[in-house]
Amino acid sequence: MTKSNVESFELDHRLVKAPYVRVAKRERLSDDVEIIKYDLRFCQPNEEHLEMPTMHSIEHMMANFMRDYTDKLIGFAPMGCQTGFYAITYNMEQDELLMALENGLNDILTATEVPAANERQCGWGASHSLEGAQEAARAYLAKKDEWLEVMA
Ligand SMILES: [Zn+2]
Repeated sequence: MTKSNVESFELDHRLVKAPYVRVAKRERLSDDVEIIKYDLRFCQPNEEHLEMPTMHSIEHMMANFMRDYTDKLIGFAPMGCQTGFYAITYNMEQDELLMALENGLNDILTATEVPAANERQCGWGASHSLEGAQEAARAYLAKKDEWLEVMA
């Protein structure tokens, strides 16, 4: 295989053990600012995936809820393979990421609606699943003790 300039294409997805939390990339922009991109893998690659309405609702809620716990989140984005998300941050080291992640997921469990799930604030306001997001958040949280074990 040819070497790729995309970091995640260099990861052998057959060797990881989901769920996990992994630093996908660090990019230092200046003396003070480092972009840290986290790979938050919910599902075992090529074996399982989340449905799009579930992914979409987790995206909306984590983009919203994690910012209640940190001001270092730039973006929270679904992976196209539907097995997890990227949290793109600046200067957010792992302890802070784990704290905001856990708190945000717990907030999903108690949410009664998906924020901004409407046609004005979203590109497909009907494509959401609060129940799916809660089920996925619960499953991910249940394996919290294994998050830092990335490789099988
Ligand atoms: Zn949306």
